[in-house]
Amino acid sequence: MGKSKGDMLQTFEVKTSAKTDLIDITRFVQEAVRKAKVTDGICIIFVPHTTAGITINENADPAVSRDIVMMFNKIVPNQGPYQHLEGNSPAHIKASMTGFSQTVFVASGKLVLGTWQGIFFCEFDGPRSRKVHVRAMKVEE
Ligand code: ZN
Repeated sequence: MGKSKGDMLQTFEVKTSAKTDLIDITRFVQEAVRKAKVTDGICIIFVPHTTAGITINENADPAVSRDIVMMFNKIVPNQGPYQHLEGNSPAHIKASMTGFSQTVFVASGKLVLGTWQGIFFCEFDGPRSRKVHVRAMKVEE
């Protein structure tokens, strides 16, 4: 059950360019899996922020992520009876709605995603420079 050298936590940066944005990070996660030299196992993707999250959804039609952003903005209004003095409660709430981690299976060195699925970093209080942690792990039979 020894750990191989590549089998470690990796961190990459995401520069966001809008207040609210879904950014397809699938290729960066796949690259982290390749670097970890994990062929069969699982990959955990974790966002260490309170106003950003992570989700998996369709990346074939960009209108899907635009619709998700549009509806998040409708569901969580900018103006509310919010108490948080920093003024970014909508971003905290949206981040909790997506959650902060996803787990994806890895088989033959590839992320096992559905045909239309991609992994999206969800910015809710941008633009900023953000971090994403990835750890791919071998799963022993
Ligand atoms: Zn805040």
